[in-house]
Amino acid sequence: MKEPQTRCDPPPPLATALSYFHDVVASGQGERELLDFKGLVVGTACNFVPDELIWAVGGRTIRLCGGSAQGAEEGEKLLSRQICSVAASTAGLPRMEPELWERLDLLVIPAACDAKKKLAEVFSREKPVHVMDVPASKDSAPSQAYWLGEVQRLVERIERTAGQKITRVDLGRALKLSVRREALFRELLELRYRQANDGPLLTGEQFQFVAGASFADDPERYTERLAALVPALKEADAGGYRAVGADAPRVVLAGAPLIHPNFKLLEIVHKAGGVVVADSSCSATQCFYQHLGPRDWSMKEMIKALAEKSLLPCMCPCFGGPEDRLDRLRELVRASRAEGIIFHQLRTCPLFAAESELLRRELEPDAVPLLVVNTDYAASDIEYLRTRIEAFLESLKRRE
Ligand code: SF4
Ligand code: SF4
Repeated sequence: MKEPQTRCDPPPPLATALSYFHDVVASGQGERELLDFKGLVVGTACNFVPDELIWAVGGRTIRLCGGSAQGAEEGEKLLSRQICSVAASTAGLPRMEPELWERLDLLVIPAACDAKKKLAEVFSREKPVHVMDVPASKDSAPSQAYWLGEVQRLVERIERTAGQKITRVDLGRALKLSVRREALFRELLELRYRQANDGPLLTGEQFQFVAGASFADDPERYTERLAALVPALKEADAGGYRAVGADAPRVVLAGAPLIHPNFKLLEIVHKAGGVVVADSSCSATQCFYQHLGPRDWSMKEMIKALAEKSLLPCMCPCFGGPEDRLDRLRELVRASRAEGIIFHQLRTCPLFAAESELLRRELEPDAVPLLVVNTDYAASDIEYLRTRIEAFLESLKRRE
């Protein structure tokens, strides 16, 4: 299968807008900035952590989740080889980026799975670590009350670490920034889905860079760059630009998050002539999918809203009750007019393994073709993955 033809190069405003996000991720600019940052620097390990609490004390967050194969090799020495690549690569951070590691004032690790629990244990030997207890389900009132308690406990920890109280005014400012960022991100998602059938405006990799840049970037600057990207995409759309031709098979990417530089699945899909038009990934669409809507701007309601937005829309398979995850996936397929789903399963992760089997059973009546790939960060299976993905995309083309 041939690589799809881009109809034309992105127009300059779009190229400039996109290259910003690419450079933040690829150059490590955000990480370097933090070395000279004077305020609180908090490393986080999951979407469950409400960054807004740290912004409210003038601090910055950085997502610690690792995507490097070399980092995973380092981390395996601490956590064993029976651990998924993302947890292993995160555990390799102190060796891979010692200056950044040194700069971290606090680590916040939600204990969503055994790998994260062990990660917290290992890190706590060297750094202050705050573990958030994630409830087993998110639907019941007691679970939601428990999670609210966990968010309140985090408020206290941040205040202690920063040596200052989180004020209503500062938290309100942080939430307003977050609301603006989410609104822009939703506009971006809408553009991504709306044009998918017609030849999408963004490749899966470009979208992943846009979302991934938020892990380390200054949140205000990131939001302003999103505000520049959305009109640039609209203008490119009006001018007839498409990132990929309309004949490229369209897929939803589901499953475990992809963390830079481990974008091998995205690269293989693109080179094989397909395009990722939607995803349910914690490191992409799920970054800001959550709607933040405080009922009023009192401290109580703002903290409640943060607890709700970090729990209720979460698609993590650590929760029992998969109905909303299945509904979301069906909705993504419908909205993006995808022709199939590729499910990314990370070796040794029981949560995503069980989830893929569930999808096989549950999606059968919908007749949505599903390809499950079980992989890690090593490059050794690239040819094998390429063969399987090419065959899958060919089969989607034959269904037309
Ligand atoms: S899959 Fe679950 S544990 Fe992993 S980053 Fe997402 S929410 Fe966190
Ligand atoms: S991939 Fe699975 S085992 Fe690894 S951190 Fe995510 S949920 Fe945990």
